[in-house]
Amino acid sequence: MADKGLLLVLSGPSGVGKGTVKSAIVENKVFPFEYSVSMTTRKPRPGEVDGVDYYFVSRERFQEAINQGELLEYNEYVGNFYGTPVAPVKKMLEEGKDVLLEIDVNGAQKVREKMPDGVFIFLTPPDLHTLHMRLENRGTESEDVIMGRIKQARKEILVMQDYDYAVVNDTVANAVDHIKAIVDAEHVSVKRVIDDYRKMVRED
Ligand code: 5GP
Repeated sequence: MADKGLLLVLSGPSGVGKGTVKSAIVENKVFPFEYSVSMTTRKPRPGEVDGVDYYFVSRERFQEAINQGELLEYNEYVGNFYGTPVAPVKKMLEEGKDVLLEIDVNGAQKVREKMPDGVFIFLTPPDLHTLHMRLENRGTESEDVIMGRIKQARKEILVMQDYDYAVVNDTVANAVDHIKAIVDAEHVSVKRVIDDYRKMVRED
């Protein structure tokens, strides 16, 4: 059987740029991996493709997925549900493929409880001022909402203590470089390769 792949969980505070960093990794094929497509009840944005960016489903279908135990984790965020279908993730890991999840901090915490072997990467803003500017430049939220998100980010940044790596998203290119370095290092970490060597040196 192939060695199991790495479960790579990219998370971080709202507005830190997780989606942009994930897209850069996907588009530039920075390292070989499969992206875990989430299920959501939010409506598609222009250009988003069902089955590629998300599985866009009704609330009824999402509720059914919860009831049937189809989700590794799920969370409600700004009035919509988001969740990770468990079956494809498990299958890809069994096939030896690395799997990338881009999810919010609540979801990442739940994944950590169920799959502690994952590699948990926390994306951080260089500072809160930059985060404020980014939310403002996105132009989709009012100042009140932005202040709410900053308050949320103050709390979320401390969640970093439960992660394996902290990557500063100062530029997307730098963040992507660091993530690639983490993945390369994880592939050769002793805890992941020791079993192969144990088999190799066994005399029987
Ligand atoms: P957006 O609506 O901007 O695509 O995503 C909103 C938030 O939902 C982002 O923080 C994103 O990381 C998070 N998200 C996307 N997919 C999932 C998922 O499957 N589970 C959880 N918990 N969060 C998700």
